[in-house]
This record gives sequence, C-alpha cells and structure tokens, in this order.
Amino acid sequence: MKKILFGQSYYLRFDPKLWAAMMPYPPLGTLYAASYIREKGYDVALFDAMLAESEDEWANSLDEHQPQYAVIFEDNFNYLSKMCLLRMREAAFTMIRMAKERGCTVILCGADATDHYDKYLEHGADYCLLGEGEETLGELLDQLSAGKEASDVIGLVSRITHHASRRPDIKNLDALPFPAWDLIEIQKYKTIWHERHGYFSMNMVTTRGCPYHCNWCAKPIWGQRYNSRSPENVAAEMKWLRENFAPDHIWFADDIFGLKPNWMERFAELLIEADAVIPFKCLKRADLVNEKTASALAKAGCKTVWIGAESGSQKILDAMDKGDKVEDIHRAAELLHANGIEVGFFLQFGYPGEMWEDVQKTLKMVRECMPDDIGVSVSYPLPGTKFHERVKMELGEKQNWLDSDDLAMLYRGPFPQEFYRILHGRVHHEFRLRRAWQKRDWRRIARTPYYLLGMLRSEMRLKRFATDTHSGTM
Ligand code: SF4
Repeated sequence: MKKILFGQSYYLRFDPKLWAAMMPYPPLGTLYAASYIREKGYDVALFDAMLAESEDEWANSLDEHQPQYAVIFEDNFNYLSKMCLLRMREAAFTMIRMAKERGCTVILCGADATDHYDKYLEHGADYCLLGEGEETLGELLDQLSAGKEASDVIGLVSRITHHASRRPDIKNLDALPFPAWDLIEIQKYKTIWHERHGYFSMNMVTTRGCPYHCNWCAKPIWGQRYNSRSPENVAAEMKWLRENFAPDHIWFADDIFGLKPNWMERFAELLIEADAVIPFKCLKRADLVNEKTASALAKAGCKTVWIGAESGSQKILDAMDKGDKVEDIHRAAELLHANGIEVGFFLQFGYPGEMWEDVQKTLKMVRECMPDDIGVSVSYPLPGTKFHERVKMELGEKQNWLDSDDLAMLYRGPFPQEFYRILHGRVHHEFRLRRAWQKRDWRRIARTPYYLLGMLRSEMRLKRFATDTHSGTM
C-alpha cells in the first residue's frame, strides 16, 4: 500500500501570543482524516506541526517516512485555521516545496486552500480538496493508486482538473472512526499541560458546521450545513479517552455544542451512567441557553461556556445578522452562573456602523453580566462572507493577520486602527480590575491605582478619537 504522510501548517511556535499561553491541542481534524484513510487500508504516518520548532521538522519527517503522498490537511476544527494567518500560509507553501523536492504528490485541504486554491497550486500543490476533505481524499487516493487521473472526483481542484461542485457532506458522523490519537505524542502534550497549568486538557468535537447566518462568519468547509454525532457515540469516546489518556479536562471545539433538542440531556445521562464525566468547556449561542440546557450542561461536567456575545448593542447584533438579543446574552450568563458554570464572552469591535455609544453599550454589558473571561477582537473580513462583500472595496493590501495577536483592522473601520488598540487595553484593564475585586485577588487588587490610571488615560484618548472621527455622535 502507498505511504501517506499527513501534516498541518499551524505551528504554535509561529504564533507568539498563543505560544506564551501554551495551551496546545493536537490537530483534531488532521487526526480524523488520517484515521479515515487508514481505515480504507492505506499506510499512514503523521507529522504534528503544533509543537514543532519549524518546517525543517516536516522535512525530517518526509525523509524518515519517504511518502508517495504528502497530505497537508489543516485542523478545520481549530478556529485559527479558519482565519488563514499569513505566517501559517507561508509555512504551508514551504511545506509544499519541501514535499515536491522529495518527489511527493502534494494534496492540500483546509479553509485557506478552499478559498485560495489558485495560490496553493501556484506554489506547487498537485491537488486541493474543497470543503470537508475525508471522502474526497479517499476517492482521490483510490483513483491515483489505480493509475487513473482522478478527473471526475467531486470537490477537487488541480492544475488540470476543476470539479469544484460541493460534495455532499458526511451525514452519519457516528460511522467515522475515532481520531488517530495513536499517531500523536500524547505524553508531550500531557507534560506541557501539567507543567504549565497543573492539569491535562484534550480536544474533541461532536458536530460539524453551523446552521446560523452571522454575516461575518466564514464557512468554507461545511457551508451552512450542520451534522451531529449521537450522544451515545460521544460518550463512548469520552470513556475511551478517559481509560486511555486520563485527561482532566476536555475542550469541545464545536461551533455550537448541543444544538439538537434533548441532545444535552441525553449526553449528561449517558456520561453519568458510564462514569465518564470529565470537566469540559464548550461554545454555545446565548439564545440556546435555557434552564433545561444549563442544568444538563452542569450535570455533564461543564465548567465553562464561551458565548459569541460580540456586542452589547442590539443595532450591531442586528447588523451582523447574529439572531441574538442583548437580553439573551444577559439571561444566558445568569442561568449558567446559577448552575455553577463559568462564562466567557467573545467580543468584537469595529463592525461597520459601530459608534462610540455602541462601544459603551458593550462595556456596560460586560459590567452587568460579569463574565469570568473575555476574548476581545476586531471585525475580520473573511472571504465568502456578506461582511467581506460589503467592505471589500475598503480592504487594503494586507488581507489577513500575520498571527493571532495581529488585531489589525483590515478594512476602513468606523474608527482608526489606533482606537481599537487603545480600546483593547481599556476593556482588559477594567475587566481585570473587576475580576480582582470579585475574586479577592489581593495581588491584583494592589494594582488598582495602575488599572484606574490606565483606564482614565485610555478613556480620554478614546473620547478624543470619537470626537475627532465622528463629531456629533457622542
Ligand atoms: S453561531 Fe457561531 S459558528 Fe454559527 S454562524 Fe454564528 S458565529 Fe458562526
């Protein structure tokens, strides 16, 4: 059987902010693909870029395994792969070159390779898989192995083939084998987590896709579709992970966790029956949190729910086609807290039409809801979105962030770039100060004058920006 080397191009080492945070997760999407292809009978190896120092380790892995096919299959469950960071795109180009120099057939799969397959083909890739990749890859390998040209494989692009119509998505996710965890050096991850955080967290996923329409959210892999594993299948994997790797914590990387009616309740029952409860964090929409789900989440072991709150201004939520009400966000935070679950808010500034008063509403929402953590970003125009279409005439030469700490405004936002840099600090200062008092964190409380001074200065500068940029809007 032909040898296949899987890899992905997200190197934690090239993302300084997340390297410093050091909370690494193996490339789950790559592990799913490797497992699927192995089950078809291929001989599979894996290079894990997550903890690698540089692309040179990929070259070493190519030399070691001497594969016929090099498959750079991004972890499509990692939101950073969706953002197409420039440093990781460069790494993918280097990996393509290294594999071609060694005579491999090079196959790409991922959000950026779907949106910009021409760039990848120009840099030497032989094939790009568009969207969800497992079945397309399986068919491609079967045809190439049989000496065919693979010209009729759906969802595939090459320099000579363009059969880009979307392949029907995989509906029965329970039929997929569990990720190929045996190809990863789990002990390396476990040691890092224990040394840096005192516990070991692993990643899982229970769904693919999202049926909602937030107009800045890109869906190059699954489109508007949504498929879910059964609670039985997920509980069985959790039990298996527990028996084999003893994680202390799970990150469910789904866009939306537990969307199907009664899924969460059944999942909680099964975990309790199987003695497989492991504390976890997940993402959920605010409007999907009700008393029943909040209580089921707590029973299943949920410790943290991250909510894409985005804005405290209804005008901005509506402009984003978010489909949530500000009251939903308040209610979700209250219900989760009442069930002993911590709440994280993703916040987004700089959406078109956001004025100073809208920014103030977001700050007020954070004050009132008291989330336990926040993630602050600026609106990021991703190809294929309504938002991208709307601002594409205003995009500069730079159309992607270099790494996750870049936070550059890529289009002409309501305020200049500097405004958002100051705002970022301002929001974090206030949040940290409130948390310090809430948690009686005396070390941080001692820094109160520093935080207050920082907030005052930022506030003055922000107001000046607001007045200069949109005089009359305050
Ligand atoms: S709910 Fe989340 S994943 Fe779904 S469209 Fe909105 S932002 Fe995207």
